Amino acid sequence: MLDRDARRWLRGILGDGVAFDEPMARHTSFRVGGPAAALARPGDQAILERLAAGLRERRIPFMAVGDGTNLLVRDGGLRKVVIVLTNALNTIRYSHENEDQPRIGAMAGVRLAALCRSALENGISGMEMALGIPGTVGGAVRMNAGTGLGAVGDVIRSVAFLLPDGRVAEMGRDELDFRYRGLHGMESCVVLGAVFRLKRNGASPGELKERAREILAERRRGQPDHGRGWSAGCFFKNPPDGPPAGALIDRAGLKGVRVGGAMVSPRHANFIVNTGDAAAADILALKDRIQETVRERFGIRLSPEVEIVGEKRHPV
Ligand SMILES: Cc1cc2nc3c(=O)[nH]c(=O)nc-3n(C[C@H](O)[C@H](O)[C@H](O)COP(=O)(O)OP(=O)(O)OC[C@H]3O[C@@H](n4cnc5c(N)ncnc54)[C@H](O)[C@@H]3O)c2cc1C
Repeated sequence: MLDRDARRWLRGILGDGVAFDEPMARHTSFRVGGPAAALARPGDQAILERLAAGLRERRIPFMAVGDGTNLLVRDGGLRKVVIVLTNALNTIRYSHENEDQPRIGAMAGVRLAALCRSALENGISGMEMALGIPGTVGGAVRMNAGTGLGAVGDVIRSVAFLLPDGRVAEMGRDELDFRYRGLHGMESCVVLGAVFRLKRNGASPGELKERAREILAERRRGQPDHGRGWSAGCFFKNPPDGPPAGALIDRAGLKGVRVGGAMVSPRHANFIVNTGDAAAADILALKDRIQETVRERFGIRLSPEVEIVGEKRHPV
């Protein structure tokens, strides 16, 4: 999909920070997915902006990804340049103008776990709902990642975006439409970073860490461990009314059901796991089967929380 000129141009601005025909199985927690036309790792924001402008000019489609922990790439791969921001945008900044409500700015490539840790070490609370969620700040903002304790959108003060026209814009919380596992209307923008509205509630770093340990232990009890397969966390969104997706899948008797190398986790029914040799097609076939069974049994249509992208593999 990328001609010689495009490849040369990409190599020119990214040097070793570009790989062509790169298997996405190496960059997603499901460990499946065909090749991206190119995987680009810009070294800083200026290069990212040049890259995005050049791709637009050349009409080469692209998408930003974080750690690929909520991404299912089909076996035919992505006819796109995938831009990974973990090298370029990886700093955390504090502003203590108001001691009780410090502002923390985290760039999109920062790991959510690093942000949570940093807040705790500084005696700042508010990020507890994100404990244990893998991936980056960019992915968490885009997905409005969260748990039973809340969602990332709840503690956002503002988000900086690279807009489709190449401008950088900062938008306040009031201008943003965070929804359940999504940030509506900003799908074609690259998240550059976010400022979080957190608080000091008098708890010491030690007390905050103790609470964090409890939250993480509770999470571990309910989730399949990674030694038993690769996943993207919960596969389906919880329906707006009624029981959660996992309970519906469990009641439909689907725990442990397999298609090829994909299996409904026997431990948490809303996790589809790659037991080792799954293709994306196996995971998708299992997804269809779960949706059909749950619809037949309970009249409820489950929709995926995981982002499904890419091309089907064409039979040879
Ligand atoms: C074991 C496990 C447990 C999980 N538990 C939870 C949980 O408790 N709660 C929860 O909400 N999620 C959970 N997840 C899902 C996932 O970790 C979150 O959705 C996470 O926020 C995704 O971050 P990421 O960096 O990996 O994003 P990716 O998977 O790389 O990307 C997800 C989407 O965001 C887009 N995106 C990524 N970065 C950017 C950016 N900078 N700008 C624009 N778009 C971007 C991508 O294009 C894609 O559409 C879990 C996943 C796993 C594997």
